[in-house]
Amino acid sequence: MFKNAVKLFKIFGIQIDIDFSWVIIFLLVVWILAFQFFPRFYPFSTTTNIILGFITSIVFFASVIFHELAHSLVAKRQGINVKKITLFIFGGVSQITEEPGTAKAEFKMAIAGPLSSIFLGMVFLGIYVIGRNFLPLTLKAPIGFLADINLTLAIFNLIPGFPLDGGRVFRSILWYFNKDILKSTKIAVWTGRIFAFFLIGFGVFRIVFADLSGLWFILIGFFLDQAAISSLFQMEANIILNKISVEKVMDTNPKLISENITVSELAREYFKDTKAHSFLVKDNENIGYVRVDNVNKLPKNLWEEKRISDIVDRYEGEDLLKKSDTALKALEHMRGQDIDQLPVLENQNLVGAVSIEKVIEYLNEEMKAGKSK
Ligand SMILES: [Zn+2]
Repeated sequence: MFKNAVKLFKIFGIQIDIDFSWVIIFLLVVWILAFQFFPRFYPFSTTTNIILGFITSIVFFASVIFHELAHSLVAKRQGINVKKITLFIFGGVSQITEEPGTAKAEFKMAIAGPLSSIFLGMVFLGIYVIGRNFLPLTLKAPIGFLADINLTLAIFNLIPGFPLDGGRVFRSILWYFNKDILKSTKIAVWTGRIFAFFLIGFGVFRIVFADLSGLWFILIGFFLDQAAISSLFQMEANIILNKISVEKVMDTNPKLISENITVSELAREYFKDTKAHSFLVKDNENIGYVRVDNVNKLPKNLWEEKRISDIVDRYEGEDLLKKSDTALKALEHMRGQDIDQLPVLENQNLVGAVSIEKVIEYLNEEMKAGKSK
């Protein structure tokens, strides 16, 4: 999802990353605090405003990480794997590789975020109230803002539209009672889309009658709408792919690259018009793969002398599929490992290969057929 992310640190075994787009929102928050919020309410000098804006902004994004950590830690306790947390232009996101298996698990995971923001908001509010008579104004100002923003964040996230936390809570409640996750998702996606349209409308209203800050509401509205649509698409896709075995989508005569050719031969022959991230390689006994990334990492002057056997990776363990494995399992595994094909074996022999391309092709046809029904 995030190609330009920088690794920040690891906490409780969870990697925290920052996407390049986050710099925009960070600077915007610093700017709003330093040149609008603090000057409007407090008698500070410009330098103080800028320093406070910077520090408050950092604590604000630490609060966002705290919120995402709450989701992730609850997910981990439910046995769900969390890849990482990434800060980006629209806030933070926990990259959780699988959907929760039960309505209860989803409810706990979703509610943890807003609860953590309410907790933080109350802590800041408590410090503000207790210290109102003795804390310096330069401390009270940012603490008051942080109390406000965390509580606002909690309320915003509790709006019952997918993919907001409140939408997930809403879906889990529907799911708990009607036992139908697809139907529940559809309803929560619709409330999410209605809210997104409302945000866009509100943004337009602000631009016409107030100022350009409406643009931000329009952007968030579009982002939420897209996220709602793709969540539903994802769910429908998962249901379709969970019903079929890899046998149905595998290529029984996959193209295999010999490991004796040179890297430059591979580049000439296969790199021309393909978007593949990896290729299947055959050696004497085993099936392996070569990553395009690993080819590109190799200095160009070595391409003539190095052979595929020098940079080949072996498929092992979970990479090796059986005919009866589901297409969903294959797709999730390929995406997780960032490889394009997986071999299908029967009695240790290669009987086919599944590729992301083939699975998506099948999915598109099924979805088209489903729509025209
Ligand atoms: Zn959340």
